[in-house]
Amino acid sequence: MDDDQSSGYAVLVEEKKDAKIPDGPMIKLFESLVTNYCYKQDIILTNAQIIDILQVDFNIDIQKIHDVEVEIYVDVVKKYLKEWPEWDELERSIIDFKSDNNSKPITSIIEEKYLNLKKYLGNMLEIAKHLSPDVVKNIPKTGQMYKKENVNEENVVMEIQATRKQLNHLILRHPIGNNSIFNVNEALPKYYDYPNLLPLHSILSWSGIEVELKLKWAQGGVINLKYENCHKLQHKLVNKMLNLDSYQKSSLNQQWEVKSTRKNSTEISKDVILNLFEQCILNDRYRKWKPVLVSMHKILSDITRSMPSNIGVPGTFRKYLSKYSYVRFLYKNVTDEETDTENEKYDLQIQEVLSPMCQLYIGLYRSREELIKIHCDFCQVTFTGENVAWEIQNHFKSHVAEPDWQCVNCDKTITMSDLTWENWNHTCEPLSLCHMQ
Ligand SMILES: [Zn+2]
Ligand SMILES: [Zn+2]
Ligand SMILES: [Zn+2]
Repeated sequence: MDDDQSSGYAVLVEEKKDAKIPDGPMIKLFESLVTNYCYKQDIILTNAQIIDILQVDFNIDIQKIHDVEVEIYVDVVKKYLKEWPEWDELERSIIDFKSDNNSKPITSIIEEKYLNLKKYLGNMLEIAKHLSPDVVKNIPKTGQMYKKENVNEENVVMEIQATRKQLNHLILRHPIGNNSIFNVNEALPKYYDYPNLLPLHSILSWSGIEVELKLKWAQGGVINLKYENCHKLQHKLVNKMLNLDSYQKSSLNQQWEVKSTRKNSTEISKDVILNLFEQCILNDRYRKWKPVLVSMHKILSDITRSMPSNIGVPGTFRKYLSKYSYVRFLYKNVTDEETDTENEKYDLQIQEVLSPMCQLYIGLYRSREELIKIHCDFCQVTFTGENVAWEIQNHFKSHVAEPDWQCVNCDKTITMSDLTWENWNHTCEPLSLCHMQ
């Protein structure tokens, strides 16, 4: 070894095998110090390299820990790698080795220094390991960051996850003066009103409402039916003063889609389901459920019209309820009196586009247990039992009144209660009429 400094690198690799130094990224770092003759201040490690060190040299499975914990460990390694007190000594040994007056073989120096550095960083990581669970525990669950696929990351300046209401309260309408789009003191938006007590039929078509029924049928067992208003919502910040239509006007595909069916599904006629509802409505035993059964029957006979007469169950089916989406803005339009010269250029609003979609699950069960359940997804409340119809209507009094919708195709303005009454289906007005308004 002493006679073989002309080809330092090759020897190092040979010797390393004999000395059984673990082959990891930290050793590679030392090796590059020797071969490239660079100093510790020249070492710049990328986060990926540090993560590699964490995984290989310290056996930390980064897949199993929180992103924030990984970040903490990366920072610890970054900081203490720089502050390791033995760098100067290592540097001197390398210089000695290179200048041919080394007393010790370079591999043993590297091995010794490797173990020292590993111990040093290991101690620091150990301390961080004890502290980080507390940090991770306190990260709020809501508003978590998540990665969406199909997003061109370069175009994303900032990503906010918020409810529609939070978002609406966050944005300033007229960003003049403080030069910010964030709501500092602006009054909360006023919502349009709809009648206080909504018809049950409208409620069952409301966004976020789910109805589940289990009804006994003649062949034995129960038919399980889940109806969900899983409307697609898109939100965008727009300047209404620019009068640009920033939404898609193309028509929605109103075909039924089958989301899932088991291979051994049973074929039943959709009429069987409608007949079952009709029988139950006439049966005095379902007296208390009747308002829900009547509304659901109306919805089902309407939406199943476009379904094939026989369907495989258990199955989940979904379709768009209207040919076109609806759009609305979560503020009232500025009236002429309110408008002043400052406000003329900006009217920032949250634009909400809704593509009404329903999802229907139908299954057959052997059990004899019947069920009626209505769930409001916005409020995360569920009603079940005899008084569901009254309870859900009463619950809706606590809902905030919502702005009217506008058809993206014909521009007709329709109230939320009217639209839900028609289960989101509306016949577009002739364009010529619409534009004369
Ligand atoms: Zn609710
Ligand atoms: Zn229309
Ligand atoms: Zn128009």
